[in-house]
Amino acid sequence: MSYPLAAHAWVRDVVCGMPVDQWAVTFFATYRGTRYFLCSQRCQERFSENPETYLQGPEAKRARTNER
Ligand SMILES: [Zn+2]
Repeated sequence: MSYPLAAHAWVRDVVCGMPVDQWAVTFFATYRGTRYFLCSQRCQERFSENPETYLQGPEAKRARTNER
């Protein structure tokens, strides 16, 4: 099985969870050497403010929110 190189590469926006096209997306952030793609400037800002929250998944995010 093979995939054409020019095919769209869908990646997940770690902030809001929606799929974004890796080749068309204009918003991204680099954290610990890994590039993360975001759907919008708002998601980019939210990720930049607290990347750990989004990389640990929704459970950690919920726990973090409850600390306030
Ligand atoms: Zn988003």
